[in-house]
Amino acid sequence: MAGVLHIVGAGIAGISGAVAATAAGKRVSLYEAAPQAGGRCRTVSGPDGFTHDNGAHVLLSANHAALGLIERIGARDAWIEPEPQGLPVYDAGTGALARIGLSPWRWLRRDQRPPGLSLTDLPRLARLAAPLADRSIGPLFAGSALHDHLVEPLTVAVLNTPVARASSARMGQALRRVMRPGGARLLVAQNGLGPDLVDPAIAWLSQRGVALRTGARLREIGVEDGRAAALVFAGKTITLAPDDTVLLALPPAEIGRLFPQIAVPESFEPIVNAHFSLDPALPATAAPRFIGLVGTVSQWVLVRADHLSVTVSAAEEYASDNPERLLARIEEEIAPALVAAGLSCVIGEQRRLVKEKRATMTQNAGGAIFCPVSPLRGLAIAGDWIGALPATIEAAAIAGSDAALALAGMRP
Ligand SMILES: Cc1cc2nc3c(=O)[nH]c(=O)nc-3n(C[C@H](O)[C@H](O)[C@H](O)COP(=O)(O)OP(=O)(O)OC[C@H]3O[C@@H](n4cnc5c(N)ncnc54)[C@H](O)[C@@H]3O)c2cc1C
Repeated sequence: MAGVLHIVGAGIAGISGAVAATAAGKRVSLYEAAPQAGGRCRTVSGPDGFTHDNGAHVLLSANHAALGLIERIGARDAWIEPEPQGLPVYDAGTGALARIGLSPWRWLRRDQRPPGLSLTDLPRLARLAAPLADRSIGPLFAGSALHDHLVEPLTVAVLNTPVARASSARMGQALRRVMRPGGARLLVAQNGLGPDLVDPAIAWLSQRGVALRTGARLREIGVEDGRAAALVFAGKTITLAPDDTVLLALPPAEIGRLFPQIAVPESFEPIVNAHFSLDPALPATAAPRFIGLVGTVSQWVLVRADHLSVTVSAAEEYASDNPERLLARIEEEIAPALVAAGLSCVIGEQRRLVKEKRATMTQNAGGAIFCPVSPLRGLAIAGDWIGALPATIEAAAIAGSDAALALAGMRP
């Protein structure tokens, strides 16, 4: 009988690899160091019972690999479009709220155009979307009103890197996908990443005989004759059969520790998320909502029925701030944006700041593109840091399924 595919790391890349390989008829074992699957995509529940995602995660309808995974595990209906009429963006400087279409095609409608859009912006946007030499995005939009109202917020959201140094080539990869017809719908998990992504994936795998072993931190890999012969976990060693294969779906630092000869990203950017309970909860019909802010520390607010989550990406400047002070500042600055968006919600008692110090790798202009390499026969690596796309759920889903199918001999 064909060997087992051992997948280490149950973030999105590992889950995507496990689902793809299982669907292709492979036997799979999945190992995860943390007590739960999901990695950087997870629902967090504190001792006070306050439950929310580590950070608000959005997908775009152009994210075909991520949505294909979600469809396959039966969770597609839970990913819904919170702002079908265009994204509400509140400008703290003017107090105005504009609805902005995410695709340039929607700008043909005056009521979905970014404020300040002028004819001279169109060639700059075309240049950003074209497969040209990599440059920093910020200077391409110097002097344009679009810089503050569209380009900076989108760049920081997609690349989690300050716009002044963010890579036009990586952004262009995303834009070309989004600009295809139907690609620019913004989607969120209605109930959260646990219930609408990670839990159904693990249940789908479990129904097909794939066990997830949590608390399994890979320490070393035993090598014989150029192949992985053993996976040495804390407290347990798995001896591999000659036809077994291994997919390491691990963060860059772990790949670098296990295989120092492999080049991995060494610079990362933080994301800070502030979560506030709502009391009373909103009527189910009023949520979820998704609101952008400019001119504030807060960049996006995802409003769910019983809590809201505020995202601050590329948050180096705020990552070491006093949490209480930052929570108070964010609470104060989102209040008028919520009112402008027609939401009358009352912030409750529970609040939490989640700082993800290594939320994604830095995606600067001129930065390296990390290719999938195989340091041993029958062993592959995967993660959001591999490939030319922005480091996102989509990149992780593609890297995971490509690597798993390649190990199964179903992809080059
Ligand atoms: C706050 C925040 C907001 C984000 N927002 C978005 C968004 O809106 N849209 C979007 O597309 N992306 C977003 N991202 C990025 C997205 O979360 C990541 O790109 C994606 O989750 C990465 O998945 P991964 O599987 O590559 O890595 P990870 O999620 O890091 O998975 C790696 C797994 O390996 C495990 N592991 C590590 N070491 C070991 C070991 N030695 N042995 C066993 N297991 C190990 C880890 O515990 C982890 O579960 C966001 C990220 C953060 C942090």
